Amino acid sequence: MHELSYAQALLEEILRLAEENNAKRVVKIHLRIGELLLINPEQLKFCFSAISRGTVAEGAEIEIEFIKPEIVCTKCGRRFDEVIGICDCGGIVSINGGKDFLLKKVEMEVE
Ligand SMILES: [Zn+2]
Repeated sequence: MHELSYAQALLEEILRLAEENNAKRVVKIHLRIGELLLINPEQLKFCFSAISRGTVAEGAEIEIEFIKPEIVCTKCGRRFDEVIGICDCGGIVSINGGKDFLLKKVEMEVE
């Protein structure tokens, strides 16, 4: 499952941060995810809660903010809401920023 790989990478990063900060418990995780990654937030939360059991991140709340990609024609500069191949003017449409997976903030309880 796609979301499981992200949850695993996320957990690894969270545990590293928690250790660095001597955190007793991870309370909340704020994420920014590009819409083009097609991540299902419920699946991601479910996977994370399953694999974080028994770690300091167990029970952490996950808040996700989705980032819209910037889809712009390289020729006429027209913007689009959806990913399309070629603009009406014949120009190539470029896509930026829809594939990020960013850890924006982590709230931890420190002893
Ligand atoms: Zn165009």
